[in-house]
Amino acid sequence: MTGLANRNLLEIQLRRQILKSSQNNRHSAVLFLDLDDFKRINDSLGHKTGDQFLIQVAKRLKQIFRDEDTIVRIGGDEFVILLSNLASDKDDATEQVTVVIHKLLASLREPFRISQHELHIFCSIGISLFSDIHKDPEQIVKEADAAMYEAKRKGKNDFSFFYSELQAEANKRLQLEKEMYLALAENQFKVFYQLQFNQQHKILGCEALIRWQHPEKGLVSPADFIPIAEQTGLIIDIGEQVIRNVCLQLAQWQRTTDRDIPHIAINISTKQFSDDAFIEKVTSIIKDTGVDPNRIILEITESLIFNNVEQSIDKMHQLRQLGLRFSIDDFGTGYSSLSYLSRLPIDQLKVDRSFVSNLDNSPSDLAIIDTIIAMAIHLGLDVIAEGVETESQLRALISCGCHCFQGFYFCKPLPHDQLFC
Ligand code: C2E
Ligand code: MG
Ligand code: MG
Repeated sequence: MTGLANRNLLEIQLRRQILKSSQNNRHSAVLFLDLDDFKRINDSLGHKTGDQFLIQVAKRLKQIFRDEDTIVRIGGDEFVILLSNLASDKDDATEQVTVVIHKLLASLREPFRISQHELHIFCSIGISLFSDIHKDPEQIVKEADAAMYEAKRKGKNDFSFFYSELQAEANKRLQLEKEMYLALAENQFKVFYQLQFNQQHKILGCEALIRWQHPEKGLVSPADFIPIAEQTGLIIDIGEQVIRNVCLQLAQWQRTTDRDIPHIAINISTKQFSDDAFIEKVTSIIKDTGVDPNRIILEITESLIFNNVEQSIDKMHQLRQLGLRFSIDDFGTGYSSLSYLSRLPIDQLKVDRSFVSNLDNSPSDLAIIDTIIAMAIHLGLDVIAEGVETESQLRALISCGCHCFQGFYFCKPLPHDQLFC
């Protein structure tokens, strides 16, 4: 479609270039280019416009690079460019590449006109320079890919050269990924529960929080593995296991304790929610375990919804038909447009803990919380504050009209058998 070369050609050209670079003592470079937010264009304007857009991107790439350079489209919105015949001196070669990349970024910054739309795109670029015969093509592309991730981390529309620390990080990620597969098979993922209270310290519910009981590292926090699980897609299976474990637990509580846990909130990640089989999986887990779906709240984030607004709303409606409810987690940290809130089939807003933790010394955070709560009340939504650590935060929240709390002030997340000790 774009008239660009494919992966196979890339490998052939790379092999040739590795040999040539080492013979003529010149550097070559592989650029890994990823279009930020391309998916959004595709989802909101349709695949036809997405395709037209990619064709125009390819055209601009061809204008920037020389005929002797190889431009390859390796995935939906990913391109790899092989630059040859750069300087022998590494600094000079780096400078040459930098100049080209600035040209490239400037060219892509110009708006794209496709039928009646004017589109803007950002991109992230990773670069791997080489002149060494011992490198293999796959390794070079992997390095450029790792550098591209670094560029993404720095922010949009940026580029980054590969350096060896990035390799260490990429290896660590890879290792963790392998261990996660094993963890899933060996049931190393456990669910902890953090209770939620009202101001009279009555239990209103709890949130399920995953922990990884790693055989050597001990308890690993979700912050250290959920982002990687999300990147690799493994979160779909991990998340399903969490939902199943939580439902089994809830069913057991329903049978065996007189403790009343009105609901359990489960965190759902973007990839997991956009999985085509998500609703089917939830339905069958509920059926298998016999839990009352009214007692399950799914915690989703603003960015999950914005990833694909129409589809998200549609799925949320279907899940609500089953009886499940929704809470927006980390509320206030995303790029929400307030106008969409009233359209969403949600029940609760969960005020992000960053606002709560600053309550004692930041009047502006108090104002934000006050506004969120007032807005929620107008929209008929419940509000819960997370990360409540001190009595004074609690008092400030109560004064804003918040009546539901979660945080270390009350209790930490605990395994199910320690919850009521
Ligand atoms: P979250 O959903 O916003 O969960 C709240 C986090 O705040 C939890 O961290 C909890 O331990 C912590 N927390 C609770 N009270 C306090 C407090 O008073 N002070 C402070 N400083 N922290 C408090 P945790 O368990 O490390 O989880 C981190 C994040 O990982 C969660 O943020 C959630 O986004 C994600 N996560 C956890 N379990 C799952 C899961 O099963 N699936 C998915 N997709 N994500 C999960
Ligand atoms: Mg949460
Ligand atoms: Mg949160």
